[in-house]
Amino acid sequence: MKTIGIIGAGQMGAGIAHVSALAGLDVLIHDVSEEAIESGLATISGNLARQVSSEKITDEQRHAALERLSSAANIEALGVADMVIEAATESEDVKRTIYKAVCPVLSPTAILATNTSSISITRLAAATDRPERFLGVHFMNPVPVMQLVELVRGIATDDATFQAAKGFVELLGKETSVSEDFPAFIVNRILIPMINEAIYVLYEGVGTVDGIDSAMKLGANHPMGPLALADFIGLDTCLAIMQVLHDGLADTKYRPCPLLVKYVEAGWLGRKSGRGFYDYSGDEPVPTR
Ligand code: NAD
Repeated sequence: MKTIGIIGAGQMGAGIAHVSALAGLDVLIHDVSEEAIESGLATISGNLARQVSSEKITDEQRHAALERLSSAANIEALGVADMVIEAATESEDVKRTIYKAVCPVLSPTAILATNTSSISITRLAAATDRPERFLGVHFMNPVPVMQLVELVRGIATDDATFQAAKGFVELLGKETSVSEDFPAFIVNRILIPMINEAIYVLYEGVGTVDGIDSAMKLGANHPMGPLALADFIGLDTCLAIMQVLHDGLADTKYRPCPLLVKYVEAGWLGRKSGRGFYDYSGDEPVPTR
């Protein structure tokens, strides 16, 4: 594997591009607009510089990684990629539209992977022209820091594809865990309902934002409180995952908290929009409830 294409230059796409370039792969980044790609590239550049400051990488490594990153404003440019990882917004419609556009330009042997947090890999694979060369490669956020990548086979994924994806993750120096193709896989099946429950605890007035986050940090030894983590993940992504769990498992215990729904409707998506359970407009995040 020499060239990787990334679709979606948001926090996850930028992270996957960052670690792939550091591992020596050429990386092409595509998004809906030049501005979105530029913003993703700027994030990567800032994060690489931070890694140099904290002596995790050298300045030569930073420079070499930046050289390997390029913008692919036209989706046709992804035709040279050995593997394309789609890391666009967590919406089945968005992902289907992307596959329709990208499949005809891909080389017949290219692997297409999705970074979806929750959506059925088998169903997404059926929207492509290559279900046997399609799988879930689910990175954790922030990608340069987190060790785990979940690998998820669809019903048609062939072994060569799975082994190639595993080799790619190992090249990045990360660990894999294998999940069956069930809604939200392993990590988010456990994590996101916990976050949703924390939002219910806030909604019902059991505790404040600060009270809930402090309680889980000090009482359960979590490095981050669940509401700060929700803001970090993105409240739209958290809601989309709860909806996939609710629809896919048909159990009322996965009902998205109405307060989460309301925040997303308000455009309060967490860190990426400047406001969620915390307000990020100042130097320090300020709890909003
Ligand atoms: P984000 O909102 O930061 O970025 C999404 C990007 O997709 C945006 O730049 C947007 O412009 C782009 N996009 C939307 N439609 C597109 C299209 N048609 N073509 C190309 N690009 C398009 O979201 P994110 O947090 O990076 O999440 C992306 C994916 O990664 C989702 O599937 C999400 O579930 C998954 N994921 C997220 C996290 C997390 O913690 N946020 C963790 C693991 C996996």
